[in-house]
Amino acid sequence: MRLYNTLTRKKEEFIPITPGEVKMYVCGPTVYNFFHIGNGRTFIVFDTIRRYLEYRGYNVKFVQNFTDIDDKLITKANEEETTVKEIGDRYISEYYKDADGLNIKRATVNPRATEYVNQIISFVEELIEKGYAYEVDGDVYFKTKNFESYGKLSGQSLEDLQAGARISVDERKQDPMDFAIWKALKPGEPGWDCPWGKGRPGWHIECSCMAKNILGDTIDIHAGGSDLVFPHHENEIAQSEALTGKQFANYWMHAAFLNVNNQKMSKSLNNFLTARDALEKYDADVIRFLMLSGHYRIQLNFSDELLDSAKASVERLYNAISNLESLLDEVKREEISEDEKKYLESLDSYRQRYIEKMDDDFNTADAISVLFDLSRDINSNITVESSKELVNGALSIIRELGNPLGILQKSTKVSLEEEVEKLIEERQNARKNRDFALADKIRDDLKSRGIILEDTPQGVRWKKI
Ligand code: AMP
Ligand code: ZN
Repeated sequence: MRLYNTLTRKKEEFIPITPGEVKMYVCGPTVYNFFHIGNGRTFIVFDTIRRYLEYRGYNVKFVQNFTDIDDKLITKANEEETTVKEIGDRYISEYYKDADGLNIKRATVNPRATEYVNQIISFVEELIEKGYAYEVDGDVYFKTKNFESYGKLSGQSLEDLQAGARISVDERKQDPMDFAIWKALKPGEPGWDCPWGKGRPGWHIECSCMAKNILGDTIDIHAGGSDLVFPHHENEIAQSEALTGKQFANYWMHAAFLNVNNQKMSKSLNNFLTARDALEKYDADVIRFLMLSGHYRIQLNFSDELLDSAKASVERLYNAISNLESLLDEVKREEISEDEKKYLESLDSYRQRYIEKMDDDFNTADAISVLFDLSRDINSNITVESSKELVNGALSIIRELGNPLGILQKSTKVSLEEEVEKLIEERQNARKNRDFALADKIRDDLKSRGIILEDTPQGVRWKKI
Protein backbone atom coordinates (compact mmCIF):
# COMPACT_ATOMS: atom_id res chain seq x y z
CA MET A 1 0.00 0.00 0.00
CA ARG A 2 1.31 3.40 -0.94
CA LEU A 3 0.38 6.74 0.54
CA TYR A 4 1.42 10.33 0.02
CA ASN A 5 3.52 11.64 2.86
CA THR A 6 3.44 15.43 3.27
CA LEU A 7 6.74 15.21 5.14
CA THR A 8 8.69 13.73 2.21
CA ARG A 9 6.39 15.09 -0.52
CA LYS A 10 6.31 11.62 -2.07
CA LYS A 11 4.09 8.60 -2.31
CA GLU A 12 5.69 5.96 -0.10
CA GLU A 13 5.14 2.34 0.72
CA PHE A 14 3.24 2.15 4.00
CA ILE A 15 5.23 0.23 6.60
CA PRO A 16 3.74 0.34 10.10
CA ILE A 17 5.95 0.35 13.19
CA THR A 18 4.37 -2.87 14.45
CA PRO A 19 3.31 -5.29 11.71
CA GLY A 20 -0.47 -5.52 11.45
CA GLU A 21 -1.07 -2.45 13.61
CA VAL A 22 -1.63 1.22 12.82
CA LYS A 23 -1.33 4.04 15.33
CA MET A 24 -3.20 6.98 13.85
CA TYR A 25 -3.91 10.46 15.24
CA VAL A 26 -6.28 12.91 13.54
CA CYS A 27 -6.73 16.49 14.74
CA GLY A 28 -10.32 16.82 15.78
CA PRO A 29 -12.78 19.69 16.09
CA THR A 30 -12.73 22.71 18.34
CA VAL A 31 -16.00 22.14 20.13
CA TYR A 32 -17.72 25.53 20.28
CA ASN A 33 -20.34 25.00 17.58
CA PHE A 34 -21.85 22.47 15.20
CA PHE A 35 -19.35 21.28 12.63
CA HIS A 36 -19.76 22.12 8.95
CA ILE A 37 -19.37 19.81 5.98
CA GLY A 38 -15.90 21.28 5.31
CA ASN A 39 -14.77 19.82 8.64
CA GLY A 40 -16.94 16.86 7.66
CA ARG A 41 -14.84 16.26 4.55
CA THR A 42 -11.70 15.83 6.66
CA PHE A 43 -13.49 13.57 9.15
CA ILE A 44 -15.03 11.45 6.36
CA VAL A 45 -11.71 11.15 4.49
CA PHE A 46 -9.81 9.86 7.52
CA ASP A 47 -12.70 7.66 8.61
CA THR A 48 -12.56 6.10 5.13
CA ILE A 49 -8.79 5.63 5.34
CA ARG A 50 -9.18 4.02 8.73
CA ARG A 51 -11.97 1.73 7.45
CA TYR A 52 -9.87 0.76 4.45
CA LEU A 53 -6.83 -0.02 6.64
CA GLU A 54 -9.13 -2.24 8.70
CA TYR A 55 -10.47 -3.84 5.53
CA ARG A 56 -6.86 -4.69 4.63
CA GLY A 57 -6.47 -6.45 7.96
CA TYR A 58 -4.79 -3.83 10.12
CA ASN A 59 -5.75 -3.32 13.70
CA VAL A 60 -6.12 0.47 13.78
CA LYS A 61 -5.83 2.47 16.96
CA PHE A 62 -7.59 5.64 15.87
CA VAL A 63 -7.33 8.72 18.08
CA GLN A 64 -9.17 11.96 17.36
CA ASN A 65 -9.08 14.71 19.96
CA PHE A 66 -11.53 17.36 20.99
CA THR A 67 -10.06 20.82 21.49
CA ASP A 68 -12.18 21.91 24.43
CA ILE A 69 -10.18 24.86 25.75
CA ASP A 70 -9.56 27.73 23.35
CA ASP A 71 -10.39 31.42 22.75
CA LYS A 72 -13.54 30.54 20.83
CA LEU A 73 -14.93 28.38 23.64
CA ILE A 74 -14.11 31.05 26.19
CA THR A 75 -15.89 33.74 24.13
CA LYS A 76 -18.93 31.52 23.66
CA ALA A 77 -19.08 30.65 27.37
CA ASN A 78 -18.87 34.34 28.30
CA GLU A 79 -21.59 35.25 25.80
CA GLU A 80 -23.90 32.61 27.20
CA GLU A 81 -22.83 33.24 30.82
CA THR A 82 -21.94 29.62 31.26
CA THR A 83 -18.73 27.62 31.72
CA VAL A 84 -16.24 26.49 29.11
CA LYS A 85 -16.85 22.94 30.34
CA GLU A 86 -20.58 23.22 29.61
CA ILE A 87 -19.89 24.49 26.07
CA GLY A 88 -17.42 21.63 25.50
CA ASP A 89 -19.81 18.99 26.86
CA ARG A 90 -22.64 20.30 24.71
CA TYR A 91 -20.80 20.42 21.40
CA ILE A 92 -19.06 17.10 21.97
CA SER A 93 -22.44 15.50 22.33
CA GLU A 94 -23.66 17.34 19.20
CA TYR A 95 -20.51 16.21 17.39
CA TYR A 96 -21.36 12.56 18.06
CA LYS A 97 -24.89 13.01 16.74
CA ASP A 98 -23.66 14.42 13.43
CA ALA A 99 -20.66 12.11 13.09
CA ASP A 100 -22.87 9.07 13.75
CA GLY A 101 -25.34 10.50 11.24
CA LEU A 102 -22.53 10.63 8.66
CA ASN A 103 -21.68 7.01 9.41
CA ILE A 104 -18.28 8.01 10.82
CA LYS A 105 -17.01 5.21 13.02
CA ARG A 106 -16.34 6.10 16.63
CA ALA A 107 -12.65 6.61 17.36
CA THR A 108 -10.81 4.16 19.57
CA VAL A 109 -10.14 7.13 21.88
CA ASN A 110 -11.51 10.70 21.75
CA PRO A 111 -9.34 12.51 24.30
CA ARG A 112 -10.32 15.98 25.53
CA ALA A 113 -7.48 18.46 25.95
CA THR A 114 -8.71 19.47 29.41
CA GLU A 115 -8.28 15.88 30.60
CA TYR A 116 -4.55 16.06 29.84
CA VAL A 117 -3.56 19.31 31.55
CA ASN A 118 -1.27 17.61 34.11
CA GLN A 119 0.58 15.74 31.38
CA ILE A 120 0.81 18.95 29.35
CA ILE A 121 2.34 20.80 32.31
CA SER A 122 5.00 18.07 32.67
CA PHE A 123 5.62 18.23 28.90
CA VAL A 124 6.19 22.01 29.13
CA GLU A 125 8.42 21.66 32.21
CA GLU A 126 10.60 19.15 30.44
CA LEU A 127 10.93 21.37 27.37
CA ILE A 128 12.08 24.23 29.63
CA GLU A 129 14.60 21.95 31.36
CA LYS A 130 15.99 20.83 28.01
CA GLY A 131 16.42 24.42 26.86
CA TYR A 132 13.69 24.28 24.19
CA ALA A 133 11.29 26.64 25.95
CA TYR A 134 11.36 29.70 28.18
CA GLU A 135 8.92 31.46 30.47
CA VAL A 136 7.99 35.16 30.39
CA ASP A 137 5.49 36.46 32.99
CA GLY A 138 3.56 33.20 33.10
CA ASP A 139 3.58 32.57 29.34
CA VAL A 140 5.84 29.84 27.99
CA TYR A 141 7.27 29.97 24.46
CA PHE A 142 8.91 27.32 22.35
CA LYS A 143 12.38 28.38 21.16
CA THR A 144 12.21 27.49 17.48
CA LYS A 145 15.88 28.36 16.85
CA ASN A 146 16.93 25.47 19.08
CA PHE A 147 14.99 22.94 17.01
CA GLU A 148 17.18 22.53 13.98
CA SER A 149 14.74 21.04 11.54
CA TYR A 150 11.96 23.55 12.19
CA GLY A 151 10.07 24.04 8.91
CA LYS A 152 10.65 20.54 7.52
CA LEU A 153 6.96 19.62 7.19
CA SER A 154 5.88 22.75 5.37
CA GLY A 155 9.14 22.91 3.41
CA GLN A 156 10.25 26.32 4.64
CA SER A 157 13.56 27.37 6.15
CA LEU A 158 13.59 29.07 9.54
CA GLU A 159 15.21 32.15 7.91
CA ASP A 160 12.34 32.53 5.42
CA LEU A 161 9.80 32.07 8.15
CA GLN A 162 11.54 34.60 10.39
CA ALA A 163 11.61 37.16 7.59
CA GLY A 164 7.86 36.72 7.10
CA ALA A 165 7.07 36.89 10.79
CA ARG A 166 9.00 40.08 11.62
CA ILE A 167 5.98 42.21 10.83
CA SER A 168 4.20 41.03 13.95
CA VAL A 169 6.94 41.55 16.50
CA ASP A 170 6.08 40.64 20.05
CA GLU A 171 8.80 41.85 22.42
CA ARG A 172 8.02 39.09 24.91
CA LYS A 173 9.31 36.53 22.43
CA GLN A 174 13.05 36.05 21.93
CA ASP A 175 12.40 35.40 18.25
CA PRO A 176 9.36 36.20 16.08
CA MET A 177 8.95 32.51 15.16
CA ASP A 178 8.71 31.35 18.79
CA PHE A 179 5.21 30.23 19.67
CA ALA A 180 3.20 29.92 22.88
CA ILE A 181 2.94 26.49 24.47
CA TRP A 182 1.40 27.80 27.68
CA LYS A 183 -0.66 30.97 28.17
CA ALA A 184 -0.81 32.93 31.43
CA LEU A 185 -4.24 33.43 32.92
CA LYS A 186 -6.23 36.46 31.76
CA PRO A 187 -9.28 37.78 33.63
CA GLY A 188 -12.46 35.84 32.85
CA GLU A 189 -10.59 32.76 31.62
CA PRO A 190 -10.39 29.32 33.19
CA GLY A 191 -6.91 28.37 34.38
CA TRP A 192 -4.91 25.57 35.94
CA ASP A 193 -2.17 25.84 38.58
CA CYS A 194 1.30 25.33 37.20
CA PRO A 195 4.87 26.13 38.25
CA TRP A 196 4.52 29.53 36.46
CA GLY A 197 1.36 30.61 38.25
CA LYS A 198 -1.94 29.88 36.60
CA GLY A 199 -2.83 29.47 32.96
CA ARG A 200 -3.92 27.20 30.14
CA PRO A 201 -2.24 25.14 27.43
CA GLY A 202 -1.57 26.36 23.90
CA TRP A 203 -3.35 24.52 21.08
CA HIS A 204 -0.30 22.84 19.50
CA ILE A 205 0.98 21.25 22.69
CA GLU A 206 -2.36 19.58 23.36
CA CYS A 207 -2.06 17.34 20.30
CA SER A 208 1.64 16.57 20.90
CA CYS A 209 0.85 15.53 24.44
CA MET A 210 -2.30 13.49 23.77
CA ALA A 211 -0.69 11.63 20.86
CA LYS A 212 2.34 10.76 23.01
CA ASN A 213 0.29 9.65 26.01
CA ILE A 214 -2.15 7.51 24.10
CA LEU A 215 -0.14 6.21 21.15
CA GLY A 216 3.52 6.57 22.19
CA ASP A 217 6.55 8.64 21.15
CA THR A 218 6.40 7.64 17.48
CA ILE A 219 3.14 7.08 15.67
CA ASP A 220 2.41 5.76 12.20
CA ILE A 221 0.04 8.34 10.72
CA HIS A 222 -0.72 11.88 11.83
CA ALA A 223 -3.48 13.59 9.87
CA GLY A 224 -5.71 16.62 9.56
CA GLY A 225 -6.99 19.20 7.10
CA SER A 226 -4.40 20.90 4.87
CA ASP A 227 -4.71 24.19 6.81
CA LEU A 228 -2.99 22.44 9.71
CA VAL A 229 0.35 21.78 7.98
CA PHE A 230 1.61 25.16 9.15
CA PRO A 231 1.85 26.18 11.89
CA HIS A 232 -0.09 23.52 13.84
CA HIS A 233 1.62 20.35 12.65
CA GLU A 234 5.01 22.01 12.20
CA ASN A 235 4.82 23.08 15.85
CA GLU A 236 3.64 19.67 17.00
CA ILE A 237 6.73 18.12 15.38
CA ALA A 238 9.04 20.68 17.00
CA GLN A 239 7.65 20.12 20.51
CA SER A 240 7.42 16.34 20.32
CA GLU A 241 10.76 15.68 18.66
CA ALA A 242 12.54 18.19 20.93
CA LEU A 243 11.15 16.31 23.92
CA THR A 244 11.75 12.69 22.87
CA GLY A 245 14.57 12.97 20.34
CA LYS A 246 12.58 10.54 18.18
CA GLN A 247 10.60 10.95 14.98
CA PHE A 248 7.06 12.00 15.96
CA ALA A 249 5.05 10.58 13.04
CA ASN A 250 6.27 8.46 10.13
CA TYR A 251 3.54 9.58 7.72
CA TRP A 252 1.76 12.93 7.60
CA MET A 253 -1.49 13.03 5.67
CA HIS A 254 -3.57 16.09 4.80
CA ALA A 255 -7.04 16.36 3.30
CA ALA A 256 -7.64 19.21 0.88
CA PHE A 257 -10.35 21.79 1.49
CA LEU A 258 -13.97 21.70 0.68
CA ASN A 259 -14.48 25.06 -1.03
CA VAL A 260 -17.41 27.26 -1.89
CA ASN A 261 -16.82 29.46 -4.94
CA ASN A 262 -13.15 28.51 -4.70
CA GLN A 263 -12.87 29.73 -1.13
CA LYS A 264 -12.41 27.47 1.87
CA MET A 265 -15.68 26.65 3.60
CA SER A 266 -15.30 28.18 7.06
CA LYS A 267 -17.21 29.66 9.94
CA SER A 268 -15.39 32.98 9.61
CA LEU A 269 -16.32 33.42 5.91
CA ASN A 270 -19.89 32.50 6.76
CA ASN A 271 -20.12 30.31 3.66
CA PHE A 272 -20.75 27.07 5.50
CA LEU A 273 -23.41 24.39 5.61
CA THR A 274 -23.56 22.48 8.88
CA ALA A 275 -23.48 18.70 8.74
CA ARG A 276 -26.76 18.82 10.65
CA ASP A 277 -28.49 20.84 7.92
CA ALA A 278 -26.99 18.75 5.14
CA LEU A 279 -28.26 15.58 6.85
CA GLU A 280 -31.78 17.01 6.99
CA LYS A 281 -31.91 16.99 3.22
CA TYR A 282 -29.49 14.27 2.17
CA ASP A 283 -28.58 10.81 3.27
CA ALA A 284 -25.16 10.06 4.78
CA ASP A 285 -24.49 7.90 1.69
CA VAL A 286 -24.97 10.94 -0.56
CA ILE A 287 -22.76 13.25 1.50
CA ARG A 288 -20.01 10.64 1.78
CA PHE A 289 -20.27 9.86 -1.93
CA LEU A 290 -19.79 13.54 -2.71
CA MET A 291 -16.72 13.82 -0.46
CA LEU A 292 -15.15 10.64 -1.84
CA SER A 293 -15.93 11.25 -5.49
CA GLY A 294 -12.72 13.29 -5.77
CA HIS A 295 -9.23 12.46 -4.53
CA TYR A 296 -8.67 13.55 -0.94
CA ARG A 297 -5.65 15.67 -1.87
CA ILE A 298 -7.58 17.71 -4.44
CA GLN A 299 -9.83 20.56 -3.40
CA LEU A 300 -13.51 20.03 -3.97
CA ASN A 301 -15.83 22.85 -4.90
CA PHE A 302 -19.12 22.37 -3.12
CA SER A 303 -22.46 23.19 -4.74
CA ASP A 304 -26.07 22.05 -4.46
CA GLU A 305 -25.88 20.66 -8.01
CA LEU A 306 -22.97 18.48 -6.95
CA LEU A 307 -25.00 17.13 -4.05
CA ASP A 308 -27.93 16.41 -6.35
CA SER A 309 -25.74 14.59 -8.82
CA ALA A 310 -24.21 12.59 -5.93
CA LYS A 311 -27.75 11.71 -4.92
CA ALA A 312 -28.57 10.40 -8.40
CA SER A 313 -25.36 8.34 -8.48
CA VAL A 314 -26.03 6.80 -5.08
CA GLU A 315 -29.54 5.92 -6.23
CA ARG A 316 -28.09 4.09 -9.22
CA LEU A 317 -25.91 2.01 -6.94
CA TYR A 318 -28.79 1.32 -4.57
CA ASN A 319 -30.90 0.18 -7.53
CA ALA A 320 -28.57 -2.77 -7.95
CA ILE A 321 -29.01 -3.58 -4.24
CA SER A 322 -32.75 -3.16 -4.46
CA ASN A 323 -32.99 -5.49 -7.50
CA LEU A 324 -30.99 -8.13 -5.68
CA GLU A 325 -33.04 -7.79 -2.51
CA SER A 326 -36.27 -8.22 -4.46
CA LEU A 327 -34.83 -11.21 -6.31
CA LEU A 328 -34.18 -12.89 -2.97
CA ASP A 329 -37.96 -13.13 -2.51
CA GLU A 330 -38.59 -14.26 -6.06
CA VAL A 331 -35.93 -16.80 -7.00
CA LYS A 332 -36.97 -20.45 -6.97
CA ARG A 333 -33.61 -22.17 -6.77
CA GLU A 334 -31.46 -22.29 -3.60
CA GLU A 335 -28.22 -23.85 -4.69
CA ILE A 336 -25.60 -22.33 -6.90
CA SER A 337 -24.79 -24.04 -10.23
CA GLU A 338 -21.28 -24.65 -11.57
CA ASP A 339 -21.63 -21.83 -14.11
CA GLU A 340 -22.88 -19.46 -11.46
CA LYS A 341 -19.93 -20.36 -9.25
CA LYS A 342 -17.59 -19.39 -12.07
CA TYR A 343 -19.49 -16.14 -12.57
CA LEU A 344 -19.28 -15.29 -8.88
CA GLU A 345 -15.56 -15.99 -8.92
CA SER A 346 -15.18 -13.71 -11.92
CA LEU A 347 -16.48 -10.83 -9.78
CA ASP A 348 -13.27 -11.10 -7.79
CA SER A 349 -11.58 -9.12 -10.58
CA TYR A 350 -13.60 -6.08 -9.43
CA ARG A 351 -12.40 -6.62 -5.88
CA GLN A 352 -8.80 -6.77 -7.11
CA ARG A 353 -9.18 -3.57 -9.15
CA TYR A 354 -10.81 -1.82 -6.21
CA ILE A 355 -7.93 -2.83 -3.92
CA GLU A 356 -5.40 -1.70 -6.51
CA LYS A 357 -7.03 1.75 -6.65
CA MET A 358 -7.39 2.13 -2.91
CA ASP A 359 -3.87 0.82 -2.27
CA ASP A 360 -2.63 3.67 -4.44
CA ASP A 361 -2.98 6.54 -1.96
CA PHE A 362 -6.68 5.85 -1.34
CA ASN A 363 -8.04 6.65 -4.78
CA THR A 364 -11.68 6.62 -3.75
CA ALA A 365 -12.81 8.24 -7.02
CA ASP A 366 -11.54 5.29 -9.06
CA ALA A 367 -12.77 2.82 -6.44
CA ILE A 368 -16.25 4.27 -6.91
CA SER A 369 -16.09 3.72 -10.66
CA VAL A 370 -15.20 0.09 -10.00
CA LEU A 371 -18.39 -0.10 -7.92
CA PHE A 372 -20.40 1.18 -10.88
CA ASP A 373 -18.80 -1.37 -13.22
CA LEU A 374 -19.52 -4.12 -10.73
CA SER A 375 -23.17 -3.15 -10.30
CA ARG A 376 -23.66 -2.90 -14.08
CA ASP A 377 -22.24 -6.39 -14.53
CA ILE A 378 -24.48 -7.75 -11.77
CA ASN A 379 -27.59 -6.00 -13.12
CA SER A 380 -27.19 -7.56 -16.51
CA ASN A 381 -26.27 -11.07 -15.37
CA ILE A 382 -28.37 -11.89 -12.35
CA THR A 383 -32.06 -12.57 -12.95
CA VAL A 384 -35.03 -14.34 -11.49
CA GLU A 385 -33.57 -17.55 -12.98
CA SER A 386 -30.49 -17.24 -10.75
CA SER A 387 -30.00 -19.16 -7.52
CA LYS A 388 -30.46 -17.60 -4.11
CA GLU A 389 -26.84 -18.32 -3.29
CA LEU A 390 -25.66 -16.34 -6.29
CA VAL A 391 -27.94 -13.40 -5.48
CA ASN A 392 -26.59 -13.38 -1.92
CA GLY A 393 -23.02 -13.62 -3.17
CA ALA A 394 -23.53 -10.61 -5.46
CA LEU A 395 -25.14 -8.60 -2.68
CA SER A 396 -22.32 -9.32 -0.30
CA ILE A 397 -19.57 -8.20 -2.68
CA ILE A 398 -21.34 -4.85 -3.27
CA ARG A 399 -21.67 -4.36 0.46
CA GLU A 400 -18.09 -5.50 1.08
CA LEU A 401 -16.66 -2.89 -1.30
CA GLY A 402 -19.06 -0.18 -0.12
CA ASN A 403 -18.12 -0.63 3.52
CA PRO A 404 -14.64 0.99 3.51
CA LEU A 405 -16.25 4.05 1.91
CA GLY A 406 -18.99 3.95 4.55
CA ILE A 407 -21.73 3.63 1.91
CA LEU A 408 -24.17 1.02 0.52
CA GLN A 409 -24.80 -0.70 3.82
CA LYS A 410 -28.51 0.01 4.10
CA SER A 411 -31.30 -2.32 3.15
CA THR A 412 -33.74 -1.08 0.53
CA LYS A 413 -36.45 -3.38 1.84
CA VAL A 414 -39.27 -1.73 3.66
CA SER A 415 -40.40 -3.70 6.68
CA LEU A 416 -43.91 -5.15 6.76
CA GLU A 417 -44.78 -2.72 9.59
CA GLU A 418 -43.75 0.31 7.56
CA GLU A 419 -45.59 -0.91 4.49
CA VAL A 420 -48.83 -1.67 6.35
CA GLU A 421 -48.74 1.60 8.30
CA LYS A 422 -48.33 3.47 5.03
CA LEU A 423 -51.30 1.65 3.44
CA ILE A 424 -53.48 2.30 6.48
CA GLU A 425 -52.67 5.99 6.18
CA GLU A 426 -53.60 5.92 2.50
CA ARG A 427 -56.89 4.20 3.38
CA GLN A 428 -57.70 6.84 6.01
CA ASN A 429 -57.02 9.58 3.47
CA ALA A 430 -59.24 7.84 0.92
CA ARG A 431 -62.07 7.70 3.45
CA LYS A 432 -61.62 11.34 4.31
CA ASN A 433 -61.95 12.10 0.63
CA ARG A 434 -65.03 9.85 0.48
CA ASP A 435 -63.25 7.59 -1.97
CA PHE A 436 -64.72 4.44 -0.41
CA ALA A 437 -63.91 2.29 -3.40
CA LEU A 438 -60.18 2.93 -2.89
CA ALA A 439 -60.47 2.49 0.88
CA ASP A 440 -62.16 -0.90 0.40
CA LYS A 441 -59.63 -1.94 -2.19
CA ILE A 442 -56.73 -1.25 0.19
CA ARG A 443 -58.49 -3.25 2.92
CA ASP A 444 -59.20 -6.16 0.57
CA ASP A 445 -55.66 -6.20 -0.82
CA LEU A 446 -54.29 -6.40 2.70
CA LYS A 447 -56.78 -9.13 3.56
CA SER A 448 -55.63 -11.20 0.63
CA ARG A 449 -52.12 -10.99 2.14
CA GLY A 450 -53.47 -12.20 5.49
CA ILE A 451 -53.60 -8.79 7.17
CA ILE A 452 -56.84 -7.86 8.90
CA LEU A 453 -57.74 -4.27 9.75
CA GLU A 454 -59.92 -3.39 12.74
CA ASP A 455 -61.45 0.02 13.16
CA THR A 456 -61.40 0.83 16.89
CA PRO A 457 -62.15 4.05 18.78
CA GLN A 458 -58.35 4.40 19.27
CA GLY A 459 -57.74 4.23 15.52
CA VAL A 460 -57.02 1.47 13.07
CA ARG A 461 -55.32 -1.67 14.38
CA TRP A 462 -53.97 -4.48 12.28
CA LYS A 463 -53.02 -8.10 12.79
CA LYS A 464 -51.60 -10.87 10.68
CA ILE A 465 -53.54 -14.11 10.56
P1 AMP B 1 -11.50 23.04 13.48
O1 AMP B 1 -12.73 22.65 14.26
O2 AMP B 1 -11.60 24.34 12.78
O3 AMP B 1 -10.26 22.92 14.34
O4 AMP B 1 -11.33 21.97 12.28
C1 AMP B 1 -11.44 20.58 12.42
C2 AMP B 1 -10.83 19.90 11.21
O5 AMP B 1 -11.52 20.28 9.99
C3 AMP B 1 -9.35 20.25 10.95
O6 AMP B 1 -8.67 19.07 10.58
C4 AMP B 1 -9.42 21.24 9.80
O7 AMP B 1 -8.23 21.22 9.04
C5 AMP B 1 -10.59 20.71 9.00
N1 AMP B 1 -11.23 21.71 8.11
C6 AMP B 1 -11.67 22.96 8.45
N2 AMP B 1 -12.24 23.58 7.39
C7 AMP B 1 -12.18 22.71 6.34
C8 AMP B 1 -12.60 22.76 4.96
N3 AMP B 1 -13.23 23.81 4.42
N4 AMP B 1 -12.36 21.67 4.18
C9 AMP B 1 -11.74 20.57 4.71
N5 AMP B 1 -11.31 20.47 5.99
C10 AMP B 1 -11.53 21.52 6.80
ZN1 ZN C 1 -3.79 18.85 16.32
